[in-house]
Amino acid sequence: MEKTFVMIKPDGVQRRLMPEIIRRFEEKRFTLKGMKMMSVERDLAEKHYEGLSGEHVFGRLVDYIVSSGPVVAMIWEGENVVETVREMIGPTRPSDCESATIRREFGIDKIRNVIHGSYSVEIANKEIALWFPEGPLVWDNKINNHWYKFD
Ligand code: UDP
Repeated sequence: MEKTFVMIKPDGVQRRLMPEIIRRFEEKRFTLKGMKMMSVERDLAEKHYEGLSGEHVFGRLVDYIVSSGPVVAMIWEGENVVETVREMIGPTRPSDCESATIRREFGIDKIRNVIHGSYSVEIANKEIALWFPEGPLVWDNKINNHWYKFD
């Protein structure tokens, strides 16, 4: 089943947007397969943004992610999840979004744009391996798989 990597950026965490973002993905019937709140080491930020290493924004972006407070890293699973999550997030600059998207509704500017979602299935797999080297943190047992007797 297709998976994508989502990061709620420091501005999204500090503005308490985590529940709103999770609610939207849950309502779309995607499955949360892993989640952790973490501060980001410079090495990880540089690897995550290595595709932008030649761009003038690279240093600012890495500094922002490293020094602005924790992020929430997540793995979401579902049919066509990569493309759908990108659509729900909207384009990089909040002001470029035409329809109601997470960035349109909550983003401040192109750096403080609340959230990251993987660009393609291939990149999603790379990002999941980079951010979750320990593997997904959620297991597949359902509460009704077994009978538990609580006295
Ligand atoms: N970014 C920027 N200016 C640019 C390109 C990127 O500020 O010209 C920042 C922006 O915060 C963006 C992040 O770098 O969210 C990652 O860039 P990417 O091209 O992956 O955009 P995204 O996938 O986040 O829309």
